[in-house]
Amino acid sequence: MAGEAASALGLSMVVLAEHPDDAACAVASEVVIGTPRKLDDLRALAERCQVITFDHEQVNLDYVAQLSREGAIVRPGADALHMAVDKGHMRSVLVEAGLPVPAHVVIENGPASFDALRAFGAEHGWPMVVKTTQGGYDGKGVWQLGEASEAADLLEALAQAGPLLLEELVPLDAELAVMVARRPNGERVTWPAVETAQVGGVCREVLVPGRLDPSVTEAATALGGQVADLAGAVGVMAVELFWSKGQLLVNEVATRPHNSGHWTIEGAVTSQFENHLRAVLDLPLGLTVPQYPHVASVNVFGGPAGHPLESLLPRALAFDGAHVHLYGKETRPGRKLGHVTVCGAEAETVRARAWGAALALGSPHPPGLDLPDGVTT
Ligand code: ADP
Repeated sequence: MAGEAASALGLSMVVLAEHPDDAACAVASEVVIGTPRKLDDLRALAERCQVITFDHEQVNLDYVAQLSREGAIVRPGADALHMAVDKGHMRSVLVEAGLPVPAHVVIENGPASFDALRAFGAEHGWPMVVKTTQGGYDGKGVWQLGEASEAADLLEALAQAGPLLLEELVPLDAELAVMVARRPNGERVTWPAVETAQVGGVCREVLVPGRLDPSVTEAATALGGQVADLAGAVGVMAVELFWSKGQLLVNEVATRPHNSGHWTIEGAVTSQFENHLRAVLDLPLGLTVPQYPHVASVNVFGGPAGHPLESLLPRALAFDGAHVHLYGKETRPGRKLGHVTVCGAEAETVRARAWGAALALGSPHPPGLDLPDGVTT
């Protein structure tokens, strides 16, 4: 999706990919085969580029810092990336700035960890949430512990996972996400906060503006901007928030284009991908105003039947206004394969059409999430 935005601006995009058939290679002007886990591969990429940026945060911060020292322009830089790479660091930066986060503690997973976990549970109650501080995404790296007796197995399984983040289980009234685009000089624009629905730690739908009171959405939008400034983000940054008992809490950040911002491709004057490129290239940022009263974006996952998506596409495209984005990945049960966005005048209509098209693509109905009226699996 960044490649499409690059092409419209007449930019050429060089992709560092592990395999020539990785989805991004199809839209890249040039491909460097390699891995971000090897400094020499990153150097080979740097030789071909004016600016290096990222579409995930599985990044070695030492290598990023080294590339900068060698003269490469890397945006965001290692400091901003650190917030996204390490949840423990992110929490401590936010706490130091006085921003609201769930009650938490970071523990080393060692001989004293069971006692630390029991003490945290005694103070903040059970169940609690346990997260790896690094390497998690889409709910991988997040567990709920019902009681202390369940802890030993989890701690053993995570013996090599590094420090752990223990958190109170926040009673969620809603989840929101804010996308911010920020230039190297700190100039920034923010898209309005959106409501997200997560099932099993994975984002299923994004509703714009969502169902929350506008005062909450506005406060969330402002908080997102504060977090991006604090991180010193360059490019786009996603800030994921909890709405709980009348309070906003910062849950998670990502310093890259994000699933919760895919709606901006058709739904906003400027997409997150275009503004990411503008920001990392230090170009004027585009307007973030929504183009429609309502936008719904629903993620498409591989279903148990594993039908090839091409055969299902005609049914999905029959839904009025359905913008189908398929990421060119092979279908596997549970794998995120794409998304569908629908824009329009009525919240229920756009949501129903987006879900209709996603289900037509074989995406399963996630348990616990209410489908719009009239939509059947
Ligand atoms: P990831 O980095 O894998 O996306 P997150 O920390 O964002 O992990 O957690 C994924 C989802 O798990 C959240 O969107 C939320 O639905 C749920 N979750 C995470 N932490 C908590 C918490 N402390 N209380 C309640 N739910 C949580």
